Amino acid sequence: MTSQALQRLIPTFKARSLAWWQAVEDALPGGRGRRSLWSALIALVMAVLVTLVWLAGRYEASQLQAELERDTANAVSDLRTQLTRHVQALQGLQSSHPSEAFWSLEAQALLRENREMLRIEWRDTALNLKRSADSALRSPVFERVPRSETLSEAQQTCLRAQRSSGASYSRSYFLPQTDGLGMEVMDMCLPNTQGGVLIGFTVVTYGLQELISERLSVGYGRRNEISFTEPDGTRLAIAGTQSRGLRVFTAQQLVDLPGNTLVLRMDGRRGEPDLFPNVLTALVTAMSIALVTVMVLLAKDSRRRLKAENDLAEALAFRKAMEDSLVTGLRARDLEGRITYVNPAFCEMVGLTAEQLTGKLAPMPYWPPEMVDEYKQRQAIRLAGNAPPREGFESVFMRADGTRFEVLIIEAPLISVQGQQTGWMGAVIDISEQRRIEELSRASQERLQATARLATVGEMASLLSHELNQPLAAIASYANGSLNLLKDPAAVPQTLDDVHMALRRIAEQAGRAGKVINSVHDFVRRRDQAREAVAPQALLDAIAPLVNLQARKLQVKVHTRIEPKLPQVLCDRTMVEQVLLNLARNGMQAMDQPGSTERVLVLQARRAGHNATLNAEHGWVEFSVSDVGVGIGEDVASQLFTPFFTTKAEGMGLGLSLCRTVVEQHGGHLNFEPLDPRGTVFRFTLPAVLLDKITA
Ligand code: ADP
Repeated sequence: MTSQALQRLIPTFKARSLAWWQAVEDALPGGRGRRSLWSALIALVMAVLVTLVWLAGRYEASQLQAELERDTANAVSDLRTQLTRHVQALQGLQSSHPSEAFWSLEAQALLRENREMLRIEWRDTALNLKRSADSALRSPVFERVPRSETLSEAQQTCLRAQRSSGASYSRSYFLPQTDGLGMEVMDMCLPNTQGGVLIGFTVVTYGLQELISERLSVGYGRRNEISFTEPDGTRLAIAGTQSRGLRVFTAQQLVDLPGNTLVLRMDGRRGEPDLFPNVLTALVTAMSIALVTVMVLLAKDSRRRLKAENDLAEALAFRKAMEDSLVTGLRARDLEGRITYVNPAFCEMVGLTAEQLTGKLAPMPYWPPEMVDEYKQRQAIRLAGNAPPREGFESVFMRADGTRFEVLIIEAPLISVQGQQTGWMGAVIDISEQRRIEELSRASQERLQATARLATVGEMASLLSHELNQPLAAIASYANGSLNLLKDPAAVPQTLDDVHMALRRIAEQAGRAGKVINSVHDFVRRRDQAREAVAPQALLDAIAPLVNLQARKLQVKVHTRIEPKLPQVLCDRTMVEQVLLNLARNGMQAMDQPGSTERVLVLQARRAGHNATLNAEHGWVEFSVSDVGVGIGEDVASQLFTPFFTTKAEGMGLGLSLCRTVVEQHGGHLNFEPLDPRGTVFRFTLPAVLLDKITA
């Protein structure tokens, strides 16, 4: 299995074990369930460990017991071998038919070599003592109790020996000694034969104590207490000592001798297996400790994991809540363009469920059918790796009911944790409502502007009535004059030139009136005004007749000051004349107060130096209209340019707002300042035409 496959499997496994764990937790009530599960597990592990340690101890004890049994069996076998050797040695001694003196020497040698032999007797067939030898290593055994008192035992034994033609052993019996103590002894009787005829007996008295200490202590006595016992447990002889506090393992084995059966008992002085009695148990214990440690670590790890899972779940829930409460639609696509994720806002936007959208490939169900080709191309470009503009792009989507709506899509590459692009993430914003509001506001703005223009027309009409009155009156008087001249046919030849002149004037005035009307018409229609280069002088000249007309009516003196060598200005001539007329009229009206004696209106045109530095490309020409009227109070000043604001009974309050619009349309500024001691000056700028531009 490859490591990738393994990595894929691990989360599945984790998920499954988590699910299992969850199921267990669900089955048990709350945290108590988990705790009791843990305690059960710990108890189980502890029980297993204790059992293991106990079993290991038991195993060791049984090993010790078996070892002891083996030792006992070996000891019995050694004892037998030894006794058999004794028999052979004694047979050897007798078969050589020794002289009594030689027998004594040989017997002494045997007694020296075998300390367990206490006494050797040579008896005849009637069991009369012929010769005896006592061990030189100790006082003779039958010193305190005469041999005759114990002879009956030996007699029976020899009888058995004679019958079986082999060595026979007597029952053991207690023999008091001269030192006040006593000892357990056992006789062995060996019949001596010659050519199958009994010629006597050799009787050996064995000290049981010596038998153990001489023959068994060396091999087995170091670790064991060895004893001969009676079947009822009474100890006859004992060798080795028992250490206190150690557990005693006991093994018994029968020493089946002809004529007597002894019980050899060994008490192993092995300590009870400790808690750590040997390597095996220590190993088991160490492993148990390791197991417990691992369990503790696992418990800790699982607690950490649980906490991490909870944190993760919380973070996920938070993210989900965030995504669900978003009003922006979110849509993720993989590198093939397949939808991999949509949030509720997106679903709501297009009127389809997440199931209907997820996994879909182009054409998407929310693409208007007529746009499918275009969108497919767009998607192909995107999938080829071309990032869309950062500020997003607009598109049209279709709801489930077929209605179209405009959206703004901001798309960015979807980068995985490994830093690889796995698809595209798009934020989709429904901008149809925004568009609708924009459209509404534009329409209402246009309506407002149209209304304002219409209102202005009304106001201009009254102004125009003045303006048109003059040319019309002139036309009328020129016409009347011409008619009068033509009344007398005789005088016609002389007056023909005058009539011509009058008709030219009529045409001029009619043309001017027509122009004024056309400019109003254009303004109302909001046609692009034709800009032309006009000398400032010409502008002021053009309004002079009308201004003078009103000035005469209001007894105002009009002064015109024009800076020499002024450049021409680029403007819509008629509109700018209207502005000048309006400002002049306002100024004159401001001076039309009872009691005011000095009524001077100054119309001025000059270079606007400070603006020229602001705009290097072309300079500016400043026009100003100053009066010595009532001036403008603060309350009036704040609303001066507000449409429909007026302080006059017959005023419409559109003049100044219109003036400012016209000036600003030309790129200039309109402002005003109070004059000292009284009056106001209104100034506005217009772009100058540079000389090289004119020549060009
Ligand atoms: P209207 O002339 O129809 O009232 P305007 O927009 O031209 O409308 O003027 C608005 C108001 O500004 C006027 O009613 C007047 O009170 C004030 N105003 C304009 N020009 C002057 C001026 N030169 N001196 C004093 N007040 C002025």
